[in-house]
Amino acid sequence: MIDIILNKGKEKAVLHRHPWVFSGAIANVKGKPANGDIVRLINAKGDFMAYGFYNDQSRVAVRLLEWDEEVIVDEQWFRDKVAVAVAARSELLSSGSTNTCRLIFSESDYLPGLIVDKYADHLAVQVLTSGMEKMMPVIIDELKRLLNPKSVFDKSDASSRQHEGMETENVVLCGDNPPDSVEVKENNIIYNINIAEGQKSGFYCDQRDNREIVAAYAKGKTMLDCFSYTGGFTLNALHNGATAVTSVDSSALAIETLKENIKLNKLDAKKHTAIQSDVNKQLRVFKDEGATFDIIVLDPPKYAPSRSALDRASRAYKDLNRLAMLLLNKGGLLATYSCSGAMNMETFKQVLAWAALDAGKQVQFIYQFCQPEDHPVRSSFPEGEYLKGLLCRVF
Ligand code: SAH
Repeated sequence: MIDIILNKGKEKAVLHRHPWVFSGAIANVKGKPANGDIVRLINAKGDFMAYGFYNDQSRVAVRLLEWDEEVIVDEQWFRDKVAVAVAARSELLSSGSTNTCRLIFSESDYLPGLIVDKYADHLAVQVLTSGMEKMMPVIIDELKRLLNPKSVFDKSDASSRQHEGMETENVVLCGDNPPDSVEVKENNIIYNINIAEGQKSGFYCDQRDNREIVAAYAKGKTMLDCFSYTGGFTLNALHNGATAVTSVDSSALAIETLKENIKLNKLDAKKHTAIQSDVNKQLRVFKDEGATFDIIVLDPPKYAPSRSALDRASRAYKDLNRLAMLLLNKGGLLATYSCSGAMNMETFKQVLAWAALDAGKQVQFIYQFCQPEDHPVRSSFPEGEYLKGLLCRVF
């Protein structure tokens, strides 16, 4: 196994079990590891620190796996990590009200670069590091042993793979092609998922709990669901007795699927309006029309892909929230989210305060949303915490 020597003074993060070693922290590579090989990380004094995946194409040159020198990182090590992650979702899945969730969440489940989402009997996988790519035969075999899926489909995200110098392929890794439409259940609501064509790996299961929390306020209320995708917030609200829900999304496929999902759940289509449009434009149209709502959900895509983009993203979040606040009835609720890892809760509250001021509104934060249990945040890896939201009462 090849030794990677860390620069002096760069041990701290490794000792604190942060799983990333940036290329700038490396003093020396003793040999020529291939990308994806498992290497030993050694400090400047020559002491063992950890084992990890090596990749000279990536800014994160070593992704750490194991800190105990005595533990061998072999096939069984990966099988054990997969089994532990899958077992950790058993309570979530045992109630029977939900059969879709994230089974493996990369670094947060001690498997850097591996994401596995369950859609009933089908799995969607994202492989984002060259090290994990090499381990995939073992990972797939273990997933088959544990879950016996009907299909495992690779939905690897192109831009993340580029960072590791890897090509992108969306292929069937095991079993048959996933069907065009897989029926899943979340919070007892049924969704049609198109694993191959849908966004992300097909569905945004990270909002499962938040959809339920918002829906609890929706009985007898009108709601505007912005960035609705296939209707997570919309369906939960209608199911819980909302009087009228309007959903806005720019994706035609999302809107089409949302309409199917309304039928699938036998919800009253007369209470629902779907608009395929840009949210920023549509909010202005509503303003001109004098439309108002009791509840507005804002669940935009990631505006800040990195810390350097945060200022610009903050302005975009502010503007979006300001527009929404103007459409709320007095005392109405704004459920607003950010899935940008670079945006922390404190900054997000600041953005909301700024939006309230510009809108001439007063805002109370009445609940803080976060990501659900199947998207755990590892204490040594705060970067894994990306989803946050605020439930605001707006006066
Ligand atoms: N709330 C959804 C998930 C939202 S993901 C759920 O519960 O499942 C973000 C969504 O925003 C995607 O569906 C994407 O199509 C949509 N989107 C991105 N930019 C948009 C824009 N400018 N206007 C409208 N929709 C947009």
